[in-house]
Amino acid sequence: MTKTRSASHEEVNPRVNLLGLSADGLREFLASIDEKPFRAQQILQWVHQKGVIEFSEMSNISKVLRAKLADVAEIRPPEIASEHISSDGTRKWAVRVNGGALVETIYIPDGGRATLCVSSQVGCSLDCSFCATGKQGFQQDLTADEIIGQVWLACQAMGDFGEQGRRSVTNVVLMGMGEPLLNFKNVMQACSLMMDDFAYGISKRRVTLSTSGVVPAMKKMMGNTDVSLAISLHAPTDELRNTLVPINRKYNIAMLLDATAEYMASVPDVRRVVTIEYTLMQGINDSDEQADQLAELLRDTPCKINLIPFNPFDLSDYKRPSRNRIERFQRILARAGYIATVRTTRGDDIDAACGQ
Ligand code: SAH
Ligand code: SF4
Repeated sequence: MTKTRSASHEEVNPRVNLLGLSADGLREFLASIDEKPFRAQQILQWVHQKGVIEFSEMSNISKVLRAKLADVAEIRPPEIASEHISSDGTRKWAVRVNGGALVETIYIPDGGRATLCVSSQVGCSLDCSFCATGKQGFQQDLTADEIIGQVWLACQAMGDFGEQGRRSVTNVVLMGMGEPLLNFKNVMQACSLMMDDFAYGISKRRVTLSTSGVVPAMKKMMGNTDVSLAISLHAPTDELRNTLVPINRKYNIAMLLDATAEYMASVPDVRRVVTIEYTLMQGINDSDEQADQLAELLRDTPCKINLIPFNPFDLSDYKRPSRNRIERFQRILARAGYIATVRTTRGDDIDAACGQ
């Protein structure tokens, strides 16, 4: 299926991996080898729509150019180290990245749609108190080819490349391991491929970047991208958020909501709203009063609220609230006029739920 990579690959193989190059990046690469920029579209379609990674099979490209490309470049997806399939259809892949570390990619089918949850880093430096990834600390940024490679692998595994027009991966969320905005350039490049009509062509409304609130990077997004945005709020006050999401001590809730409003104003589609993620933890942030505070806090932020029941893991003492409590919290928000959904826990039997 995929080519295996030897540990010394990087030393012995100086060929450029084209998998993570966006249309602009490919055009630059082609110019650097004295080739016409319009080839970029052909290569994108072969790789990301047909799943073809051998230049020799790219039949609308001249034989001479195919040989030249094979000489200086390659298309090398990351490797799937393991696959688990849940009884509810959720799939979890452990994907091996450069240096041997593993990240997770989760495929979550839901009726006619399916969401792919993609990782952006190995570990995370932000150390949110309720997150398993945060407990690992930061190990490395994924390259653009490792990020888009997760989408490529999922499409290949689900048979999306075989049939014209078949699409099982309909949505992508950057909600796997890592803080996407701390790996800005590579994440932007991969998002651009997800939304490019010559690559995956997923609508901007269906590609969502989730951030815990790296405010300067949110400002940098403006003009750079128009992906959909989700912010990990988790608390209605700075006092509480400081303890759950430590980056709040640097960029507080007011700064975060300001940056959110600015970004949302910068995307052309006026109907799009930000998603507020709120992980519910028993006795921490799940009271009626906190629901009221949250409703008050978000009064000027057009949004939908996604309540995520806490997913327990070793090393954590937090508990998931009861179903009653969760529903009550949701009802208070609904009564205040919000669209508040509870994220159903999927893939529980294979540890594929958020934060696991
Ligand atoms: N770093 C980004 C994206 C990855 S986390 C961010 O923090 O937004 C995706 C979502 O899962 C975030 O909202 C995160 O707060 C939440 N999450 C992390 N650990 C969790 C857990 N144990 N249970 C429920 N949600 C969790
Ligand atoms: Fe990092 Fe997001 Fe986990 Fe916080 S919740 S530690 S930002 S991955």
